[in-house]
Amino acid sequence: MKRIAIIVSAAALAFSVLALTACGESEEPVTRYEITAALDAENMTVSAEMKVTYVNKSDAELDSLYFHLYPNAYREGARFPAAAEGDVGEMYPHGRDYGGIAVETVTLGGEACEWEIAGEDENVLIVRVPALEPGAEAIAEMKFTLDLPEARSRFGYYDGYVNLGNWYPIACVYEDGGWRTDPYSTYGDPFYSETADYRVTFTAPAGWETAGTGSVSAAVNGDVTTYTFEAENVRDFALCSSENFVCTEGKAGDVTVRFYGTSAQSGGLEVACDAVNTFSQLFGAYPYKTYSVAVTPFNEGGMEYPSFVYVSDDLGASMTDEAIIHETAHQWWYSAVGSDQINEPWLDEGLAEYSATLFYGENPDYGVSVSDRIADAMQSYVLFSDVYSENENIGVMDRALGEYSSSTEYAFHSYVKSELMFDSLRHIIGDDAFFGALRSYYANYSGKTADGACLIAEFEKSSGMGLVGYFQSWLSGAADVR
Ligand SMILES: [Zn+2]
Repeated sequence: MKRIAIIVSAAALAFSVLALTACGESEEPVTRYEITAALDAENMTVSAEMKVTYVNKSDAELDSLYFHLYPNAYREGARFPAAAEGDVGEMYPHGRDYGGIAVETVTLGGEACEWEIAGEDENVLIVRVPALEPGAEAIAEMKFTLDLPEARSRFGYYDGYVNLGNWYPIACVYEDGGWRTDPYSTYGDPFYSETADYRVTFTAPAGWETAGTGSVSAAVNGDVTTYTFEAENVRDFALCSSENFVCTEGKAGDVTVRFYGTSAQSGGLEVACDAVNTFSQLFGAYPYKTYSVAVTPFNEGGMEYPSFVYVSDDLGASMTDEAIIHETAHQWWYSAVGSDQINEPWLDEGLAEYSATLFYGENPDYGVSVSDRIADAMQSYVLFSDVYSENENIGVMDRALGEYSSSTEYAFHSYVKSELMFDSLRHIIGDDAFFGALRSYYANYSGKTADGACLIAEFEKSSGMGLVGYFQSWLSGAADVR
């Protein structure tokens, strides 16, 4: 019975080599955020009040609550700034500008409390609480003001558009006896959060259209419009507001799909609907009632948030389609199934990138073949590996964001090599096992947080094969052959 022995030892390897967390640990009941925010479009500031009902889902008694202050990555002198030096021109075409968040007051259940700004880079708000037992909740209220930088970025304003991504104090994840306070990164998505419920009201000048996470209603009152967003079981909330948006609306099954762009970009609605339909069919039903895509000034191709994505306004037609498809795939891999994007960026990015390739296979009208995409990825990876062959750890994709030496190295591992790994795996185990595992991964971990070991276990289950060694060879395989 040699084969069984191999499988057993491979399983043991999984426990010894991979950092296993409790797969699919429930995140119920959830924290709730209620935010009221108003945009001052003259001064490009946002004044906000937030009430967060934090639920202690850990098994520890907590004496503090920790919140990320991501806007401080945009302040002058940030140690972990939003833009790398080489990206300043693209992020700040009108010259470098600064912004940030000023937390003005914090109370706990209406009473004064101790709080401080801390972290490696003024990136964490700590609120002291009386002993908070497991399962208990604490209500913190805070007022804060955002100073928006003029920037083509997740957070900022540019040319009649306001991007509010990663903009409010969001609870850090408490795990393994401590708070995850990871600072910003100039590349990748340095965000990690758990699902929560949101009710956000956002006031903008009348005539501005606002897109965001969740369902939305709008009420005009004199010279302002107030938008009310409701979203349940989502791991973040973002919005874009602009005086230039033209909103078109369609349906993908029961899902209301909205596309916010200019009238010339309206073809994006069909792409977004096609992507929601295709991925629902391949992986399981889209997890929300609404999906919104906003074309906005942004220095990368796109950015995913729950039920809402940014797509950059300076992409050509085919790249715009590809960005919409990739970001839509993140609704399954990142948004519904959460993962640690700081320590395992290959997991959600590789799946999203390969999902885009699968989309083209399912939609031949787009004129992009799966084999061409994989051949392109292979060729570019070979070229990258050759050019960067002297770099330490080249080929090692089981790395955290901070362990890559550049955004190029990060992208070729987390997107390109990871996509090649999934494509190769599909050919080894076959379509039934491959798609069966992805459907099972989605069904089992939607609304929860999974890790690489959880996904590998699904592939092993569906294929009946021991695959830990296969994954290890891709993840940790260094190209030291000389
Ligand atoms: Zn992505």
